[in-house]
Amino acid sequence: MKLPPFALHVPRTLDEALALRAALGSDAKVLAGGQSLLPMMRYRMLRPYALIDITRVESLARLDTAPAVRMGAAVTHADVERCERAGALFDLLRAHAAEIAFLPVRSRGTVVGSLVHADPAGDWPLLLTALDATVELASLRGRRAVALRDFIRGAMDSDVQVDEIALAATLPERASGLVRWGRCKLMHRAGEFASASALALQGADGQWACWLGAIDPGPLALPATAARLPAAGGLLPPRRDIAASALDEILAARPHVDPLAASRHAQAMARAAEQAWQGVAA
Ligand SMILES: Cc1cc2nc3c(=O)[nH]c(=O)nc-3n(C[C@H](O)[C@H](O)[C@H](O)COP(=O)(O)OP(=O)(O)OC[C@H]3O[C@@H](n4cnc5c(N)ncnc54)[C@H](O)[C@@H]3O)c2cc1C
Repeated sequence: MKLPPFALHVPRTLDEALALRAALGSDAKVLAGGQSLLPMMRYRMLRPYALIDITRVESLARLDTAPAVRMGAAVTHADVERCERAGALFDLLRAHAAEIAFLPVRSRGTVVGSLVHADPAGDWPLLLTALDATVELASLRGRRAVALRDFIRGAMDSDVQVDEIALAATLPERASGLVRWGRCKLMHRAGEFASASALALQGADGQWACWLGAIDPGPLALPATAARLPAAGGLLPPRRDIAASALDEILAARPHVDPLAASRHAQAMARAAEQAWQGVAA
């Protein structure tokens, strides 16, 4: 299907982009990778009269890796996949990026666009929530930073005001101390969105965090399941015990989730924990 008509603005500086964002109002949209916005326009779910393409603003294309990871709003999934920095955190970021769709989508779609879009099945909302990321936003009124856990308010609902542009997603420095990780993305077919998705992360303090994605309305922490994973040494509980613990937590926290789907999420959690325990990242 053809795109409906729109005016395209391609600012080269952030000041120019913010001025356009303020002037064009709520019927204009920011265009990042266009991998969610353009399909929605093709299907006439959205009809913005103007798009502000932010991908030519040089300062938004930066991917900083030290002292903390900061991904500018024009950083694509493929940029993360190509990042050469060593360490468990970067192995995890690369593996996560590499499993998003196919290369043409990864070469255009952006990490920050994915957070703003807030699709519950999106991969970045899960990982960056688990890593306690912050989103930086700017408008002509000033700048602010919001914890991603608050930024995503629900399915397809994020905290971006009509005159704002999200500038970057930043990880706390402690994320660089990640020791082990495991992830399991279940898909009906390779390259699709997740039908269930799980992460098990062990920080430098030995503590585990267990998270699920692709679950309405957004990422779900499983603290009781995380508490069952041994800090160091010891034995990992059997897969069925981890899955049973995860299932209890899912059904308690999200009683609306279909029991079969909940069971798939719980199995994904057990597999992620096993992968982390086997030290894939070590
Ligand atoms: C075939 C296909 C398969 C896919 N599979 C997956 C998958 O497996 N996992 C996954 O996570 N994603 C998947 N995606 C989605 C893809 O990752 C998108 O790129 C992503 O969801 C949105 O990023 P974008 O840069 O393309 O944003 P856009 O489509 O450009 O924008 C999305 C929305 O966010 C707004 N926006 C974007 N950036 C900003 C900003 N900086 N400030 C303010 N507003 C902004 C836009 O106005 C729009 O409303 C898939 C997409 C396709 C087409």
